[in-house]
Amino acid sequence: MKNGLYIVATPIGNLADISARAKEVLAEADAIACEDTRVTRKLFSLLGLSAAKPFITCQDHNEEQQAQSLIDLVKEGKTLALVSDAGSPLISDPGYKLIRRCREQGVKVWTVPGCCAVISALQLSGLPTNRFMFAGFIPNKDKARSDLFNELKNINTTLVFYETAPRIVKTLTAAAGVFGNREIAVAREITKLYEECVNGTAEELIAHFEENPPKGEMVLMVAPPEEIDREKIDTDALLREKLGLMPLKTAVKEVVEQTGLNKNDVYAQALKIKNENL
Ligand code: SAM
Repeated sequence: MKNGLYIVATPIGNLADISARAKEVLAEADAIACEDTRVTRKLFSLLGLSAAKPFITCQDHNEEQQAQSLIDLVKEGKTLALVSDAGSPLISDPGYKLIRRCREQGVKVWTVPGCCAVISALQLSGLPTNRFMFAGFIPNKDKARSDLFNELKNINTTLVFYETAPRIVKTLTAAAGVFGNREIAVAREITKLYEECVNGTAEELIAHFEENPPKGEMVLMVAPPEEIDREKIDTDALLREKLGLMPLKTAVKEVVEQTGLNKNDVYAQALKIKNENL
């Protein structure tokens, strides 16, 4: 095996999803960098691999400190494998800072790809996969969660988030307020016995999960916004209606949000209508 640091994906539920190459690299590596040594030792035991080598923790809170000593091992000629508790390292898991430093110092990095919950969830969802944006874990605090949803709601891609079962109803309630009737898919227990992917509006999914309290890990996906045919929007009529109900600035803001049209253009048109009526 060539010298360097190997990024090794591990299963996210079904042990048989480990690749032959991942098994080979884990067996031959001189040391293993992992989040939780107990979890990775258990994986070695389930895979029938010898765990007679150093298992070194590399977690979010100590990655910065650990990075250099891990890199020094590779510089000494050792091969190192980086794994997460499950799935692909670096994807909402530690490793980014370590890999960045490896590259800065000319240390060879290899990837041994495999399971990744983002990709498997998208495949199950039936939502468009030509463009998607993975936005990591959904914040637990109400304001941060709704700020994130509002920031992303007009982006023309399928949105993908990591979430956990105990928070899903609260998250869907916030999603209902921001994404309205857009289709949402929740994939859970991927590659496990009770793998499922349920689709519906946020309201429909809240009803589903209140009736069937979910367990386990999940991925939440939101369909892209409906394409707006800007040619067909009657901005004039929309502005006249809103100007009758609210101040000019608010009317402009709402029309821009609703149509995605240029703010300065909408503002100029609103001023023109207002001046006509003076
Ligand atoms: N790096 C891992 C990956 O990309 O596969 C993900 C690690 S992240 C700390 C854990 C999150 O991934 C979970 O909270 C869940 O959102 C998602 N996840 C992991 N395994 C899953 C599974 N079997 N089914 C559904 N979601 C899963």
